[in-house]
Amino acid sequence: MYDLIIIGGGPAGLTAAVYAIRKRLNVLLISKDLGGKTNFRLQLPDVEKHLVINGEETVNRFVNEIRYLDFARNIDKVERVEEMPGGYRVLTRGGKEHENPQATYETRAIILATGTRGRFLDVAGEKNYLMRGLCFSAMSYAPLFIEKTTIVVGDDELALRAAMELSLIAKHVTLIAPTHGKLDNVYGQRLRKANNVLILEGYSAKEVKGDVYARSLIVAKNGDTRELHADAIFVELGLKPNSEMVHGLVEMEADGRIKIDAQNRTSKTGLFAAGDVTNIYAEQVLIAIGEGAKAALSAYEYLLTLPIEEPAISNVWR
Ligand SMILES: Cc1cc2nc3c(=O)[nH]c(=O)nc-3n(C[C@H](O)[C@H](O)[C@H](O)COP(=O)(O)OP(=O)(O)OC[C@H]3O[C@@H](n4cnc5c(N)ncnc54)[C@H](O)[C@@H]3O)c2cc1C
Repeated sequence: MYDLIIIGGGPAGLTAAVYAIRKRLNVLLISKDLGGKTNFRLQLPDVEKHLVINGEETVNRFVNEIRYLDFARNIDKVERVEEMPGGYRVLTRGGKEHENPQATYETRAIILATGTRGRFLDVAGEKNYLMRGLCFSAMSYAPLFIEKTTIVVGDDELALRAAMELSLIAKHVTLIAPTHGKLDNVYGQRLRKANNVLILEGYSAKEVKGDVYARSLIVAKNGDTRELHADAIFVELGLKPNSEMVHGLVEMEADGRIKIDAQNRTSKTGLFAAGDVTNIYAEQVLIAIGEGAKAALSAYEYLLTLPIEEPAISNVWR
């Protein structure tokens, strides 16, 4: 039985794993990949890259450590987490490092750090330009667009916030809002008053066009088709938390984000969560790293308090 299983190998999960290893816990990281969303690196012509916090550089040291410590990680997909006496059972699909089609692991505590997944436009050309002019995080990349032209697609809080942030930096922002959505909220009201913002309500994206980089977006509304040129196109259609494996087990927000307290505890004893999958504020690498560290320390303290008859912390390292 493991002391701790960490699910997810993004900034939150990697940091938690490195902390847990330092605390000499018998720990296993199970993840579909190492690096998580930091593996998406935005490439653009003629921009000052130092203007953003580079997620990949920030977590690379942890990625290398976990890659080296192969006993402490499995590349696999977790399908479900179940309660069992004294802890939890983690059921996986069975990844390329397994001979068995499905594997089951037992653990005293869990940190869930599975992040979110973004919604795509699902139009022609999108896959060709992913992260080459077609971006997914204005919160991360807006500072790169000083005096540039940008497009934001979406009509929810996330898109309006993105358009608002870009409008303070970029030369021009076109907001493609497929529906009225949240256009009446405070961001919507400010965007309507900004003289460098054009809101195209009721239009939807049809195709992304470009050369090496995305250069334009075809949009349409009731037969009116337009080609909009821009230095970058931001897809801000919302994020879905990867929390399905604990549905019904822990308390969540309506959108599936896992509710945690200030010590990363969920509503279930021994089950902790960290990073974008939780209801904390802001999706950023540095925040996820801090949350992962907190979750590991919190899980460690929890393990120290387990009854003596269930060995609180395994002695595999001694
Ligand atoms: C395109 C893009 C670019 C960004 N650029 C920046 C940036 O430059 N700077 C910045 O600060 N922030 C950036 N962000 C935000 C930042 O990447 C996230 O806030 C951060 O990665 C969140 O870390 P996390 O560990 O919570 O989740 P993630 O990074 O999403 O990691 C989740 C991990 O869980 C694994 N996982 C998911 N489901 C399962 C499962 N069922 N079983 C096993 N494993 C699973 C995934 O494979 C992944 O390893 C960007 C976001 C996006 C979408």
